Amino acid sequence: APVLRCHEVSKRYGRTQALDRVSLAVAAGEMVALLGPNGAGKSTLFQLLTGLFVADSGSVEVLGADMRREPVRALSRLGVVFQQPALDLNLSVRASLRFHADLHGLPGAVSRPRIEALLARFGLADLARKPGRELSGGNRRKVELVRALIHEPRLLLMDEATVGLDPGSRAQLLEDVLQARSEHGLGVLWATHLVDEAERAQRVIVLHKGHVLWDGEARALCAQE
Ligand code: ADP
Ligand code: ADP
Repeated sequence: APVLRCHEVSKRYGRTQALDRVSLAVAAGEMVALLGPNGAGKSTLFQLLTGLFVADSGSVEVLGADMRREPVRALSRLGVVFQQPALDLNLSVRASLRFHADLHGLPGAVSRPRIEALLARFGLADLARKPGRELSGGNRRKVELVRALIHEPRLLLMDEATVGLDPGSRAQLLEDVLQARSEHGLGVLWATHLVDEAERAQRVIVLHKGHVLWDGEARALCAQE
C-alpha cells in the first residue's frame, strides 16, 4: 500500500487554481522528488498533506488515513520539515528534541535513548547543549530533520528544506535524508525547484501551474534533458 496517495486533488485560492486534479502516490520506502518552479503548487500540496488546508475536491490519503476524515491518525506517523525554518533558537538542541518527543507522547524511557542515538547518528552530539541560535543554518536544518524523525514516522515530507543553505550544507542534508530513508525504509517526498536535487530521488514528479507534467524515474527525466 502507498504511504501517500492523492487522487484528482484540486485547490484554489480565489481565482488562482493552485492544484488542478493532481494524482500521485509514494510507495513505502520510496524517495520521490516533487520538482517545480515557484508557484507550481508544491507548498499547497504540502499544506493538504499536513492537514493545514482541506482540498476543494479529490482525496488525500496519508499512511492509509483520509485527511478529511482522520487527519490525526495520519499525522501521528508523519514527519515534516517545512520550508520556513521552525526551530526554537532559545532552547538547546536536546531540549528542542525532548519537547517534540513529549508532543508526540513518547515516554522519557523511550525518547531519551532515542534522542541520544539520533544525535550521535547525525553528528550533533557535540552541539546538544547549545541553543539553536549558536548553530549554523545547515545544523539547524539537521536538527529539524532529526526532530521530524523522533516518533519514527513512515513518511517524511521535506518542503524546499535546503533553501538558504550553502552548497555543502545542501548536499549534506540530502545525504542525511537518503541515509534515513535506506536505514529505516522511510517514504520521502522531497519538494524542490532544483533539478540536481530531484535527480537524487528514485522517482521525480514534475509539477507546473498546478498540473503534474511528468511522473517517472529520475534517470528517464535526466535522459530527456
Ligand atoms: P510553490 O510552493 O510551488 O511555490 P504554492 O503552492 O506556494 O507553489 O503556490 C501555488 C499558487 O497558489 C501560486 O500562484 C501562489 O501565488 C498561489 N498561492 C499560494 N498560497 C496562497 C494563498 N495563501 N493565498 C492566495 N494564493 C496563494
Ligand atoms: P529497532 O527499532 O528494532 O531498534 P531499527 O533499525 O528500526 O531497529 O532502528 C534502529 C534505531 O533507529 C532505533 O534507535 C530506532 O529508535 C531508530 N529509528 C527507527 N526508525 C526510525 C525512523 N524512521 N527515524 C529515525 N530513527 C528511527
